[in-house]
Amino acid sequence: MINYVPNKAYIDPKCLKLERGKQIVEKLEKLNVPLEYTKKVEIKGDSPAEIYMNAKNTVLVTVNSQKKLAPCRPSADYQFSLTSSCPGNCEYCYLQTTQGEKPYIKIFANVEEILQVIDDYIEENKPNITTFECASITDPIGLEHLTGSLGECIEYFGGSDYGRLRLVTKFADVDSLLNLKHNKHTRFRFSINAKYVIQNFEHKTASFEERMEAVRKIAEAGYPIGFIVAPIMIFDNWQQQYNELFERLKGALGNYQEQISFELIQHRFTATAKELIQSRFKNTKLDMEEQNRQLKWGPYGKFKYVYKKEQSIDIKNYITKLINTNFNNSNIEYFT
Ligand code: SF4
Repeated sequence: MINYVPNKAYIDPKCLKLERGKQIVEKLEKLNVPLEYTKKVEIKGDSPAEIYMNAKNTVLVTVNSQKKLAPCRPSADYQFSLTSSCPGNCEYCYLQTTQGEKPYIKIFANVEEILQVIDDYIEENKPNITTFECASITDPIGLEHLTGSLGECIEYFGGSDYGRLRLVTKFADVDSLLNLKHNKHTRFRFSINAKYVIQNFEHKTASFEERMEAVRKIAEAGYPIGFIVAPIMIFDNWQQQYNELFERLKGALGNYQEQISFELIQHRFTATAKELIQSRFKNTKLDMEEQNRQLKWGPYGKFKYVYKKEQSIDIKNYITKLINTNFNNSNIEYFT
């Protein structure tokens, strides 16, 4: 896929005092992105769909002044962000309902300060290991060609005795990360799915083939690897397509010997998400028929629609069987 280039970038003047801020601005200039030097972002559009698309094509380069990190249980101790929102247009993005009606992209240029905050948390928790997730409100690979900040973070954690990093991505632009001194301290998780799901719902992310190639490269580079298979859906020939997914994954991983983690999440939606998705993606093919689902009480105080019990068990059993058939070094962390 072609790397993301925004239609417009706003530059918070504070960033121009930072080396990384200047580098990002230079890159944007080389890409002929129109720049405006203010942190007041304006997004226009005549419909929710247009506003969403315009926001996704707009970047604000700014600083992240957060000194207190939010917990990120159960996947890590804390979360931090180098960017927020992302260039992808996934219809069921978990950020659809949390980033407001204008989910423009923020790039944080003060990586040194962000790493200092992380360092303070690690120091305080020594000699225990402290784990950090950097993909809670973004996709950390989707903007790496503009920022280079994830690479810096991976090397920071590579040199840290007590800090560990986790990330998850639907992008495949990993070449700049392959020769870093990661020291196996970063767990690289790929969000993967059947071809039908990626092609129909994960717009502007890496294709199935590109993700397989990125998996191969990251495995060869010796990173700890994991996969989030989500959202798992039932559609015509879903079983064959998920079978193909795991067979291809096995091929991409070659003789990778380390333990591989799998997180399995069936498709779900809330009433709010359904309304938002239908307003942003008018021709969506997402199955959000309430009568095909059952209600489950979610941890965030909202009911969500999940597959009915029988189907849910079918999904769990089938995907578990595929993983166990293809990998003897796998660990299924959860199915939900
Ligand atoms: S790649 Fe991830 S963060 Fe980006 S739109 Fe898709 S689901 Fe959301």
